[in-house]
Amino acid sequence: MIVGVPKEIKNHEYRVGLTPAAVNEFTNAGHGVIVESNAGSAIGFTDELYQQAGASIISKASDIFDQADMIVKVKEPQASECKMLKEGQILYTYLHLAPDPLQTELLVASGATCVAYETVTDAKGALPLLAPMSEVAGRMSVQAGAHYLEKAHGGSGTLLGGVPGVASGKVLIIGGGVVGTNAAKMAVGLGADVTILDRSLPRLRELDDIFNSQIKTVYSTEDAIGYYSSRADLVVGAVLIPGAAAPKLLNKQHIKNMKAGSVLVDVAIDQGGCFETSRATTHQDPVYIIDDVVHYCVANMPGGVARTSTMALNNATLPFGLALANNGAKQAMQNNLHLLNGLNVHKGYITYQAVVDALGSQL
Ligand code: NAD
Repeated sequence: MIVGVPKEIKNHEYRVGLTPAAVNEFTNAGHGVIVESNAGSAIGFTDELYQQAGASIISKASDIFDQADMIVKVKEPQASECKMLKEGQILYTYLHLAPDPLQTELLVASGATCVAYETVTDAKGALPLLAPMSEVAGRMSVQAGAHYLEKAHGGSGTLLGGVPGVASGKVLIIGGGVVGTNAAKMAVGLGADVTILDRSLPRLRELDDIFNSQIKTVYSTEDAIGYYSSRADLVVGAVLIPGAAAPKLLNKQHIKNMKAGSVLVDVAIDQGGCFETSRATTHQDPVYIIDDVVHYCVANMPGGVARTSTMALNNATLPFGLALANNGAKQAMQNNLHLLNGLNVHKGYITYQAVVDALGSQL
């Protein structure tokens, strides 16, 4: 199979569908790989590295779309890319179709077989191609929070780890899933005083086993949220209710009750945010202040560390990508129903129920 890797064209997107190491795996398996020139150069993956891994460098995206049997990307295809897809071609990338009728319509019209990273499942019912980005965002959340706690960045001037003789800063993490656990690892590593709230008692037990006495675990009620947020220096919003908008767990009054110069990092902003005052921000303009509380609500946090994110994503996408290339889409999905769960659009039909439910009447 010919595998094509176009350069991402979404604004400020520096990630790339395949790393040179992943290209090497495809070429070792006997596939041809074509990579658009400078597809990874912004994050240190030069054209030379791709060539050393066996790829051919192609200067025009249209030639990649024309020649490849499978297109591997990171972000959902933009309209100009959708129009270059062809019947029978495989598209393997994040799609997030439910809120995006235009993209869905264009993918249906293309006749291509479109596999969405975000709906591929694993044996535990988790989403293995989404998890790496949650790991990245979780770890970044504390790094970002620590930065904005500095006085010059609008914060209270608190060092999360404290120093001998001065108490550590207090970090409240709401939601103890992948994001929350990774946030906790960073906060504990810095020496902060960490509390995690979750609605799932089994999850709180697991967290207690992982961190032992290094963190406090508390069942998430409105009372607990009010109490712990009013004492926190940094609050990380990391909840997810699958398939639903994030619940607004901190309301305006909770935020008024917070300490001046404390920081909110709403990682759940990509699902609408879990604080009442949250609105999506960008890496170019990441924060705003309401009631003396700094709000960081970047919707694509992993894009800020595009090199690490690309490698983390490739670790998760590579086995499924190789299965698609080695067996073709049909056989690969017959062999692995978790990969079949990733199929969102095929030969002019929407094949994923949640997308039909969200958009059926609009198309
Ligand atoms: P996850 O499913 O692993 O964890 C979510 C946790 O929230 C679960 O443990 C669940 O029990 C808990 N929860 C649900 N309702 C709660 C409540 N009322 N109080 C406390 N806890 C509650 O999900 P995840 O992978 O950790 O993702 C968390 C959020 O981060 C999602 O909204 C995801 O889309 C988002 N995310 C954002 C970015 C970004 O760049 N902004 C990147 C990755 C993930």
